[in-house]
Amino acid sequence: MENWLSKRARLSPEKIAVRAGEQSLTFAELQQQVLQQAGRIQQLAPSGRIAVLTDNSLTGYVTILAVQQLDVAPVLLNQRLSVDELTQQLADAAVTLCLTADKLVRPLPIKVVSFSQLAQQKPLVVTPPTEFTATTVASIMFTSGTSGHAKGVLQTYGNHFYSAIGSVLNLGLTTEDAWLCCVPLFHISGLSIMLRGLIYGMTVVLVDHFDAEEINHLLCTQPITTISVVPYMLQKLLQTLPQTQHYQAAFRCMLLGGGPIDRATLAECQQRQIPVIQSYGMTETASQIVALDFANAARKLGSAGQPLFPVQIKIDAAQHILVKTPTLAAGYLDQPEIWAKQLHAGWFDTDDIGYLDDEGFLFVQGRSGDMINSGGENIFPGEIEAVYQQHPAVKSIVVASATDKTWGHVPLAYLQLNSAISVTELRAYGRQHLAHYKVPRDFYLVTDYPRTGNGKLKRRALSPQTAQLLK
Ligand code: ATP
Ligand code: MG
Repeated sequence: MENWLSKRARLSPEKIAVRAGEQSLTFAELQQQVLQQAGRIQQLAPSGRIAVLTDNSLTGYVTILAVQQLDVAPVLLNQRLSVDELTQQLADAAVTLCLTADKLVRPLPIKVVSFSQLAQQKPLVVTPPTEFTATTVASIMFTSGTSGHAKGVLQTYGNHFYSAIGSVLNLGLTTEDAWLCCVPLFHISGLSIMLRGLIYGMTVVLVDHFDAEEINHLLCTQPITTISVVPYMLQKLLQTLPQTQHYQAAFRCMLLGGGPIDRATLAECQQRQIPVIQSYGMTETASQIVALDFANAARKLGSAGQPLFPVQIKIDAAQHILVKTPTLAAGYLDQPEIWAKQLHAGWFDTDDIGYLDDEGFLFVQGRSGDMINSGGENIFPGEIEAVYQQHPAVKSIVVASATDKTWGHVPLAYLQLNSAISVTELRAYGRQHLAHYKVPRDFYLVTDYPRTGNGKLKRRALSPQTAQLLK
């Protein structure tokens, strides 16, 4: 394929490519700025891998694209990681240069160049690749680290292209489409919006941090058609959107991914006419691979949807979700043995557990590592959480596994409450709605839940030691 940036700048030079606050760039301007930035990076005479550590700023956007125009796959780093974690990832990826937003500069054991230092370089003239070949690695990014050590994933141009096509065949596209990107560019949710902008010729509205009131304001007043959110963002948006306010008429898709969502939130969205499209995917599949379509959104509430057009899904005997897709990454960075363990005859084991209903809709039940084996019975935390979430005294609940002398493992509940409730009442409520072995052994109160840099729940980091036992 022709270089996406050159091609898009030729096809729709005058169209707005990206808006960030008061600033905006047409595709022609974006190309010009990206090539200049590439020329400045070239001036630093980089050899080897280049990392970008940025928030969702316009300069960060331009810089990620600039590294690609040097025919180098940017290593995208999570700004919320500690110096130690970043150091580990830089070493894993053998990075020699880290281009960093000024406010994120920190001491790292490799050459760090801030965006303002970069701006002082005299740009060299660069010759960008004329083609983006499908097998070339386009980006390297780390999984969220929800289940442990984050893994570096090698995503190719072919992966991103098929991902964009699969998504647009599901969601459709209008000439007016503008996609709000408040999910991080260093995560596949954000990067995929940026690359879809080039492929579709679509405007990206870039927001550098998630502030629910500000996002609601944008969705009520600006011609934005689509937004990508993770569950906690959707919940915050609902909490802060006054009942009398509505998103403007052109808004057509709240694309929800990244993790499970409770049905009460989905039902509230339905009632408030917020068009939520559930999706399921992972860093290794270069974004969503399963999504609900508008026609089935109401009928299949709770399902992640059907495999997108290029994607096949099946469930193995252990209930693991297996996927075969051209969006499957080329592998993990320097961990071919882990990758090989998950890949069998082209089918990738996601390590997630789920089932397909008789119409082929996928229901994701959780991660295999979160499953609780209690006295020979398998328990999914999500099922217990869904029941307790219906109780008016329960504000939020997360269930995690604990070892138990009798049963091997048992579920424990970590709660935030709306109003006082005794442990006896909580147990009795559980027994009414769940098999007895699923009722949490103990209930703990917490002020917050441990989360990854992307706001994902780190279930396995919960521990009774840091919580208060409810008596
Ligand atoms: P790590 O692989 O490092 O543990 P991670 O799996 O959270 O981190 P991501 O690639 O960001 O890293 O997330 C993908 C995972 O998120 C999926 O494998 C799945 O467990 C979960 N997920 C995504 N979408 C959904 C969904 N709709 N319902 C339930 N879980 C989901
Ligand atoms: Mg994962």
